[in-house]
Amino acid sequence: YYVYPEHLSSAQDYFVDVPQMITLYSNYAGEYPFINEKYGMVEFPWGGAMEHQTLTSMGDYFVGSDVYYNNLIYAHELAHQWYGDDVTCGTWHDIWLNEGFATYFEVLWMVYEYSNYGLTVGNVFSNYYDDGNVNGYMKGSVYVYNENKPFNDSGAIYDKGGWVLHMLSHVMGEEKFWTALRTYRQRYSFSSAVTSDFQAVCEEIYGSSLKWFFDQWVYTKKRPVYSYSYSQSGNTLNLRITQKQKHKIANRSEKNDVYIMPIDITLYYSDGTSETIVVQNDERDQQFSIPVSKQITNLEFDKGHFILKVVKN
Ligand SMILES: [Zn+2]
Repeated sequence: YYVYPEHLSSAQDYFVDVPQMITLYSNYAGEYPFINEKYGMVEFPWGGAMEHQTLTSMGDYFVGSDVYYNNLIYAHELAHQWYGDDVTCGTWHDIWLNEGFATYFEVLWMVYEYSNYGLTVGNVFSNYYDDGNVNGYMKGSVYVYNENKPFNDSGAIYDKGGWVLHMLSHVMGEEKFWTALRTYRQRYSFSSAVTSDFQAVCEEIYGSSLKWFFDQWVYTKKRPVYSYSYSQSGNTLNLRITQKQKHKIANRSEKNDVYIMPIDITLYYSDGTSETIVVQNDERDQQFSIPVSKQITNLEFDKGHFILKVVKN
């Protein structure tokens, strides 16, 4: 790296985790794309950072000051070497393919760095990348409709874009999800891709259409609002889930204007045990009858935070 002489000792201190970040990301996304060149960082007088290929420009603030999120900036820009530089978004409409991906990888680093605390990706997204508000900072759509203003809804392209990958990993399953992310990059390496290209790779690996997922999470603004209630009668759990959001979902008829998602329901029993079942929610007002063999004492809705949502009971 190249830093101001007066920041050399702080850089030596702050940059210490970067080699580990490269290893972590290589394990997830495949070998560092520019392995035959280098990865470097160069300090410059600016309030941000920019992921120039093989040599990230790092604002002097993140080199000379002990900012608590320094590592997240380094991690974010590094992730762009895979997603942003090796494969680049094809148009400004698709900028989330750069920024949502880098945000997701930033969270993966956080989970790794604080693994002693037992953090999960869902914990981090729900605690630090969500204001819990339908009309909050992530209210825009991840897909940018107005390509003249690609960074207008930065909350949507960065944080909601990261959420999209987190949710997709749960829908596809970790193994297929990571195969898709690696395949997508390999296929478009040293090239560019648009949202439909990424969707096509995911569908190929998943083995089924994901149009429903992309329509509601990438092309639609805002998020679902859920309400749920339950009761037990004998060996049956009666669970009712309703969706109360008022906005329309892109490319859906009025009849199917519903967020289609598998939802984790965690049941706690009177004998101290618990289990998580998955219900496929695809109606705005849906009743589930689920056989159970024990007395339920508590129920948690999406315990792992795999859905960007609001719950209003
Ligand atoms: Zn970025």
